[in-house]
Amino acid sequence: MNTPPERSHTGSCLCGAVRYTVEGDFQSFFLCHCARCRKDTGSAHAANLFSTTARLAWLSGEDRIRTFRLPGSRHQRSFRAECGSALPGLQMDGALLVVTAGSLDGPTGIRPNAHIFVASRTDWDDHLETVPRCDGLPG
Ligand SMILES: [Zn+2]
Repeated sequence: MNTPPERSHTGSCLCGAVRYTVEGDFQSFFLCHCARCRKDTGSAHAANLFSTTARLAWLSGEDRIRTFRLPGSRHQRSFRAECGSALPGLQMDGALLVVTAGSLDGPTGIRPNAHIFVASRTDWDDHLETVPRCDGLPG
């Protein structure tokens, strides 16, 4: 029997001051390797869940969330001013909820649909599954 995807999610920022819930389903989950997402996250790619139907509710810390939109683009980033953590935000005039997968506290419940903008990936972003894996710090 298949377990239905989790429809209720909670998330928070690094320092814990911001907490939120998302109720509903995600339509897609993309790992974006574009240059903007690499700058935005400081990492190899962004990991964002998208929904046009799920509802976001802030439980705490909403007043300290800032949103930056890159001039001349639709690239947008929401984050907590103090700890800098990437957080969910509404885009496209509120029509699209974008949830930063790393800010979720529990299991995401769905697998990424695709790596996107792979042609823009950084030079060390190939065959990462073959890099040695350690459960904690390297021994
Ligand atoms: Zn991107």
